[in-house]
Amino acid sequence: MSEKTLNPFEIVQQQIKDACNALGETEEVFEVLKQPKSCIEVALPVKMDNGETKVFTGYRSLHNDAIGPGKGGVRYHQDVHMDEVKALSAWMTFKCGVAGIPYGGGKGGIVVDPTNMSSGEIERLSRAYIRAIAPVVGDQVDIPAPDVNTNPQIMGWMVDEYSSLKGQNVPGIVTGKPVSFGGSLGRFEATGYGVALMMREAFKATKKDIKDSKVAIQGFGNVGRFAALYAEEMGAKVVAVSDVSCCLYNPNGLDVKELYKYVNLSVNKNMIKGFKGATEELDRNKVFSFEVDLVAPCALENAITLENIHDIKASIIVEGANGPTTPEADKIINEKGIFLVPDILANGGGVMVSYFEWVQNLQNYYWTFEEVQEKQEIKMVKAFDDILALMEEHKVSMRVAAFMMAIKRVADGMRARGWVK
Ligand code: NAD
Repeated sequence: MSEKTLNPFEIVQQQIKDACNALGETEEVFEVLKQPKSCIEVALPVKMDNGETKVFTGYRSLHNDAIGPGKGGVRYHQDVHMDEVKALSAWMTFKCGVAGIPYGGGKGGIVVDPTNMSSGEIERLSRAYIRAIAPVVGDQVDIPAPDVNTNPQIMGWMVDEYSSLKGQNVPGIVTGKPVSFGGSLGRFEATGYGVALMMREAFKATKKDIKDSKVAIQGFGNVGRFAALYAEEMGAKVVAVSDVSCCLYNPNGLDVKELYKYVNLSVNKNMIKGFKGATEELDRNKVFSFEVDLVAPCALENAITLENIHDIKASIIVEGANGPTTPEADKIINEKGIFLVPDILANGGGVMVSYFEWVQNLQNYYWTFEEVQEKQEIKMVKAFDDILALMEEHKVSMRVAAFMMAIKRVADGMRARGWVK
């Protein structure tokens, strides 16, 4: 059965509508939230290595700043478009609302395939971008961070360029910086660590224990590998892991620490294929089909669809990736009574530790790795418990409850400012 592909902006507007209806919110609140406060398009002339000037298109969207400055990554990808950036900025408003951190949502992007560019070209492009959006960002206005194809080095260039423009060091203008230059310890691990914490809490909420549970994880990138490592540390057996190269299976549990070392060997190009600790090496699409207690999609969007939802035997799904479940598959998950921890809660650990990074920058006082993880755990478990309570009170899915929680926080902020009744 084929599924209708929706524009991400239409999807987020529908989600806002559903949550506003469930909350009994006013039409005014929906009208303000259904679009970003501002979204700019910028033209970026960049001198390429061959001496020619090429002009790239960039965007920055600030969805809402009722409870604090905008926060959200910058994506470098050839498919970036304005509606996508607007939608992603709205999701950031709700992710920050769910996490209970004092930010609104922002997002940016450049239409570019950086895989074909030299490091010098990427640096000039990144500096051009932050110069162009400088009038609409700031450490109290809207704070960019890494996203698809952007990394701590790029953030370092952006801080440097922005600080030169302002004539003073402004480390809080972006997060996700190198630890040597204002970054936070624990940021690298934060999203995957948060996913593992949400796995543990989901087991508790369904009266089970993560210890000796069987878990399958799709994706072994930044999110998937730390989710797997921490889940293993909490006592789970990670029996299946996939990436673009294959799916590894071992009914007694893969040795995730060894797998982590294996993918980091340069000869393996970051891939899991060829790892000796698996009993079977299968097609990557098999990852959701095993007899496990929990599956965690930690790769890309649209991973759980009408095509594979009926293969899933797990009673818990924890969404590490952004948008990994299609709306139609989501309906079936609800009908089947599968306990699903939604992306805006499950992968919120990244933005939470970005917030900690910004707090440390503003204070110029830096925390230990243990302090960061302890603070992250307290905030994420609290968010999980609050949303679970709302879910039970309103008899809605955890996804709807998460949106309700976020929208209520933003709507309360807007009311306190006098923007809406
Ligand atoms: P990444 O590029 O580091 O890793 C992606 C992984 O998915 C790789 O192992 C890749 O091989 C694998 N993959 C791609 N297609 C696959 C397929 N069809 N089947 C199996 N595996 C496949 O990316 P990441 O940073 O780990 O991000 C993963 C997801 O989490 C994305 O949706 C991202 O938006 C989201 N996310 C990331 C962060 C973060 O801090 N990194 C924060 C919040 C959300």
